[in-house]
Amino acid sequence: MIRSFNPPVRTLMGPGPSDVSPRVLAAMSRPTIGHLDPQFIQMMDEIKQMLKYAFQTENELTMPVSAPGSAGMEACFVNLVEPGDKVIVCQNGVFGGRMKENVERFGGVAVMVEDAWGTPVDVAKVKAALEQHGDIKAVAFVHAETSTGVRSDAQAICALARDYGCLSIVDAVTSLGGIELKVDEWGIDAIYSGTQKCLSAPPGISPVSFGERAIEVIQARKTLVPSWFLDKKLVMGYWGGGAKRAYHHTAPVNTLYALHESLVMLQDEGLENAWARHDRHHQALKAGLEAMGLGLLVDEACRLPQLNSVLIPDGVDDAALRSQLLNDYSLEIGAGLGALAGKTWRIGLMGAACTQRNVMLCLTALENSLVSQGIAINTGVAGAAATAAYR
Ligand SMILES: *Cc1c(COP(=O)(O)O)cnc(C)c1O
Repeated sequence: MIRSFNPPVRTLMGPGPSDVSPRVLAAMSRPTIGHLDPQFIQMMDEIKQMLKYAFQTENELTMPVSAPGSAGMEACFVNLVEPGDKVIVCQNGVFGGRMKENVERFGGVAVMVEDAWGTPVDVAKVKAALEQHGDIKAVAFVHAETSTGVRSDAQAICALARDYGCLSIVDAVTSLGGIELKVDEWGIDAIYSGTQKCLSAPPGISPVSFGERAIEVIQARKTLVPSWFLDKKLVMGYWGGGAKRAYHHTAPVNTLYALHESLVMLQDEGLENAWARHDRHHQALKAGLEAMGLGLLVDEACRLPQLNSVLIPDGVDDAALRSQLLNDYSLEIGAGLGALAGKTWRIGLMGAACTQRNVMLCLTALENSLVSQGIAINTGVAGAAATAAYR
């Protein structure tokens, strides 16, 4: 007979989901109420307000899409791209490739600006593409590439898009809450994120925000948005302010309790403090890894603190090592993707998982597992190096 599912307790240091704090899990188990209940609507308003803080924006059209980050991506493209529109898509990892698919599926033309995996978007190449094509509608790029651990210069790319009269569409799934991100100050027009990375809420919700210029483009569309569910004009009737909410879809009530709680925690910690925490623990992890003799893929200048791509030493059985971490330490880290499969591990330090305890656990578990595979590394020094970094 099938019985209740009781998952093991893991430490999640992969590319997401990240550890969800007990406070957030507790919030999620509170009684389900109606999604048009006045008390629920009040909570929705608080979520909106706290998302504006997290995104650093005054955008009225800031809301959580009831579906994972990929749906936030789709919400941006399906509302802003019409057949024939040209969109510059910057690709330096997995997620830029998905942006291209989105543009093309909605009838647009993707003008690709490609950079090697492990390097940031080259702003000069974006400028050259804008110069070459006079009729670009939007520039789309990934702020924090989770497949490689690279940060691109969102501020510079968005400023460039503005100079050329284009919209900017930004993937901030992994950046929100983990590194500096300022939607209004940087002039970002449309942005989407996810809950299961640095916000440390359960997966399944995608915060999005659209600025004035993006809304004007949506209002001026010549064709109907080809997705009913993601059509912002329709969703606005439900998430837009005011007391009279129209039924659009049944909101994922309990998951939104969880998001609300994680945003309260972010607000209590302070956004700048959360950014600083991610950096602090990254520095300690890096010091420990380097002391052990392991290298990082990404240049220090554009390295994400919340996603560390570690070069796998020669002779390691990658899959066996990750199983060892999972079985012996209940610790999850991520595998490399695409061209980096078998070459890198992706160690996440996201949200609630970004702690000193996790840094020390990960270093110990990696060291012991590498030694057990007979790999020559420097032993007995990683913990001290990380500890020194904390001082
Ligand atoms: C995780 C991720 C996504 C997709 O989010 P899902 O919630 O898995 O749909 C998109 N972009 C980036 C950069 C991500 O890290």
